[in-house]
Amino acid sequence: MVTRLYTHPIYFEHLTPAGHPERPDRLRALGKVLEDDAFDRLERVLAPMGDEATILYAHPGSYLERVRRTIPQEGLTRVDSDTTVSPKSWEAALTAIGAANAAVDDVLSGRADNVFVASRPPGHHAERDRAMGFCLFNNAAIAARHAQKAYGVERVAIVDWDVHHGNGTQDIFWEDPSVLYCSTHQMPLYPGSGAKSETGAGNIVNAPLDPDTGSEHFREAFNTRILPSLDAFKPELIIISAGFDAHHRDPLAEINLHEDDFDWATGKIMERAGSFASNRLVSLLEGGYDLKGMSLSAGAHIKRLMEG
Ligand SMILES: [Zn+2]
Repeated sequence: MVTRLYTHPIYFEHLTPAGHPERPDRLRALGKVLEDDAFDRLERVLAPMGDEATILYAHPGSYLERVRRTIPQEGLTRVDSDTTVSPKSWEAALTAIGAANAAVDDVLSGRADNVFVASRPPGHHAERDRAMGFCLFNNAAIAARHAQKAYGVERVAIVDWDVHHGNGTQDIFWEDPSVLYCSTHQMPLYPGSGAKSETGAGNIVNAPLDPDTGSEHFREAFNTRILPSLDAFKPELIIISAGFDAHHRDPLAEINLHEDDFDWATGKIMERAGSFASNRLVSLLEGGYDLKGMSLSAGAHIKRLMEG
């Protein structure tokens, strides 16, 4: 497999308050893991700045301007009870979008089989008209729509294994059967959505997990709900909302996965990408707040992407 990695130093400059779990050190920890020889073949690319117009694929212009106006000259501004912006947050957010869209360009033009994007801020809680849960713009949703608009891709699947439900992605595609949204997440947990009964236009597949469960239930949710949904949908592109906060060490949730569970899930999704999508797979970092748990899990995930 040809695997690319997009990241950028600007992601370190999106700042959050002291003690906030979504912090620049997350990417520093991942960078350390990726220094290992095992990742020598990874094609490392500097993330480009995104095109502002692509934000409108998932959010109204009024929302874009509202977020822009909150960016402070100095210090931090709170845009939601747990979401803040700093002077460089706009550039970071736009570069997160740029990387996600460039990853789509790479897999659809054949430059890479799959791509991992190590960016901040994350995106899956951002609804059409609302920043929340550390997220400003929905990177995965924008990338999915970019694939459809720029390349005529008809069916995109987003698989979200972050431990929190991706309410934003669900909101954006609620009435859009051209995008399949599948999520495993702890329930009950923030943000509160993600019940099995939430099915949108038949394109939303939620597989909630009880607190204090682990590998067995996670893999069962994949085998009985997520993977059969991918098989029925036959996506031409798969995007992973790759949060690693279902790891047993994570301080924000009570699901007990290990690195090998993310390796396993990556392999299963790659099988479907191979069957339906000429391997095309884009994976975007979402959550994951224990530095060791997140970085080792993301490392296992990327290693699987490279090895096939
Ligand atoms: Zn999360």
